[in-house]
Amino acid sequence: MAIGWAGISDELRREVGESNHKNWIEPLECLEINDGVVRFRAPSRFVGDWVKRNYHDQILTLIRKEGSDVTRLDFVVSTVAATPAKSVTPPAESPAPATAMGEDVLQGVVLDQKLTFDNFVVGKPNELAHAAARRVATGGPVTFNPLFLYGGVGLGKTHLMQAIAWELTEKRPDLQVLYLSAEKFMYRFVQALRDREIMDFKNIFRSVDVLMVDDVQFIAGKESTQEEFFHTFNALVDQNKQIVMSADRAPGEIKDLEARISSRMQCGLVVDLHPTNYELRLGILQRKAAHFAQSYGAVKISDGIFEFLAHRISNNVRVLEGALQRLFAFSSLIGQEVTMDMVQDCLSDILRSSERRVTVEEIQRKVAEHFNLRLSDMLGPKRTRTIARPRQIAMYLSKELTSRSLPEIGRRFGGRDHTTILHGVRKVEEMRSTDSQLNEDIELLRRLLES
Ligand code: ADP
Ligand code: MG
Repeated sequence: MAIGWAGISDELRREVGESNHKNWIEPLECLEINDGVVRFRAPSRFVGDWVKRNYHDQILTLIRKEGSDVTRLDFVVSTVAATPAKSVTPPAESPAPATAMGEDVLQGVVLDQKLTFDNFVVGKPNELAHAAARRVATGGPVTFNPLFLYGGVGLGKTHLMQAIAWELTEKRPDLQVLYLSAEKFMYRFVQALRDREIMDFKNIFRSVDVLMVDDVQFIAGKESTQEEFFHTFNALVDQNKQIVMSADRAPGEIKDLEARISSRMQCGLVVDLHPTNYELRLGILQRKAAHFAQSYGAVKISDGIFEFLAHRISNNVRVLEGALQRLFAFSSLIGQEVTMDMVQDCLSDILRSSERRVTVEEIQRKVAEHFNLRLSDMLGPKRTRTIARPRQIAMYLSKELTSRSLPEIGRRFGGRDHTTILHGVRKVEEMRSTDSQLNEDIELLRRLLES
């Protein structure tokens, strides 16, 4: 390198202060000087742009003072090799050690290269969420703000959010897009408080064009983080900047989330990712198989394997994906076709643990569908027989097919008392011995739910 970047960086520390230096200057890597242009590598476009906007001239002056004849600074974003695609941060990840924080203030921006729209398989259960995500990803005028995606674990929330981020990065390079987990948001906030950098923190978050916060249920019960999040949120909405959020449940159902925050979250578009169905799982398996073939080489797979997996591995796409990956790894290692025997052998743990676990919510949905009722009636107070009977059947099935206790089931049935649930369960048990139609209905529903 033709310039003494280390020295210049030190000089900058004095000029911009310790914390700015840590956040913006330290993450830069000076690559080369060519034709009067000094090229830096920044960990994200956001950092690069920020430095360019705020410190360009200052840095330039210092370099010139050293005697180099430069006219401009250029920032490239870390290439694939420099930032290995890292898997999506699991929500339960414990915060990194405090000292690591300053190294890259925007660490959360590292996106997984696999999580693009191209790799997202669309089916009935996720088509609405997908369409909404696509819309936001055009970067056009903000139509719904925020976009709130919710759904169970492993159904593709993070995938869709990162797909939005990728697409925006490509199509609207002029926009500052920040994607991070709610946990990271909190972590940075706490760090900023501790280091008295709260103004920097506010500036960063209020200067983005698109803010995406994954797993916002995480901030529930964390008062000051909620408060700060609320202000950030409002500031961005006021500036008509797009916000995208995800959570494992609907805003109104997040416990310990302040009402004013949850109601704010609901004022845009709230869409849920439904549990996957058989067709979607099959589609995903086929897509992922093509993908794995690229890294493991072509692997021969016996007929019926995908169907079996799609049938047996319930809801969570992450588990489905893991199972397939294991089969590919195993098969390519021993050079044999993936057969049913291999599947049973290799995946016995997964198959065992994914013995269908049905949720009360699914039961309610299926029963309501079957009897042509609205889900709200199922949970509501109406006592007419056409509603009360299916409701009791749903209670009965919840008791039979899930491990929930009566009070837990009661809570999920619009906050009913456990004695009401018990009464319903007994009633259905009683009737089963005399009412063959009811019996048939129940068996059908059970099969549907367990498939
Ligand atoms: P969530 O954030 O909802 O818990 P993720 O987005 O992390 O779930 O998805 C879990 C895994 O399943 C990821 O590897 C993701 O790529 C994959 N996945 C989920 N839904 C789909 C889909 N519709 N098409 C392709 N892959 C999917
Ligand atoms: Mg996620």
